[in-house]
Amino acid sequence: KSGFVTIVGRPNVGKSTFMNRVIGEKIAIMSDKPQTTRNKIQGVMTDDESQIIFIDTPGIHKPKHKLGDYMVNVAENTLNGVDAVLFMINAEEGYGRGDQFILDRLQRVDQPVFLIINKIDRVHPDELLPLIDQYKEMLDFEEIIPISALEGNNVNHLISILKRML
Ligand code: GDP
Ligand code: MG
Repeated sequence: KSGFVTIVGRPNVGKSTFMNRVIGEKIAIMSDKPQTTRNKIQGVMTDDESQIIFIDTPGIHKPKHKLGDYMVNVAENTLNGVDAVLFMINAEEGYGRGDQFILDRLQRVDQPVFLIINKIDRVHPDELLPLIDQYKEMLDFEEIIPISALEGNNVNHLISILKRML
């Protein structure tokens, strides 16, 4: 069993960190600066019964210049032809205008979209439920999964859900 999974989200939500944790190699470039990831980078996770090819994207955001335009195109193109889309947000920041730009594009995606609430190590558990309720209204998510890409919380759970879907 194998499949393609793409990860989208605003800059700095933790997409590359997640990829690196799952793939176990430093293949995606991580940084505090937005837009460090200029191109889509693929990583392959294999185990006994399955293979998942992850595509890390530059954050989809409103382009301000030519290069930005190109990066948005790279990210949007990866939405076509994948088996699932992970829409990652930062639990600490919550909803922002950048999210709406991405959500508008995800409306047109037929594939299952998972909401991944990252950086839960930075928030109190009580803050999660309101965030989940808020985002639930925005898109028909396949599932909503809180994780910490940095510390690894719930990452295996997410992987097993993705595997089940393949
Ligand atoms: P990207 O732009 O979405 O690829 O984000 P990065 O993976 O480059 O991460 C941006 C920053 O957030 C880095 O400083 C990461 O160490 C940090 N980060 C990523 N995931 C987590 C997390 O789960 N918890 C915390 N506390 N920090 C995180
Ligand atoms: Mg990145």
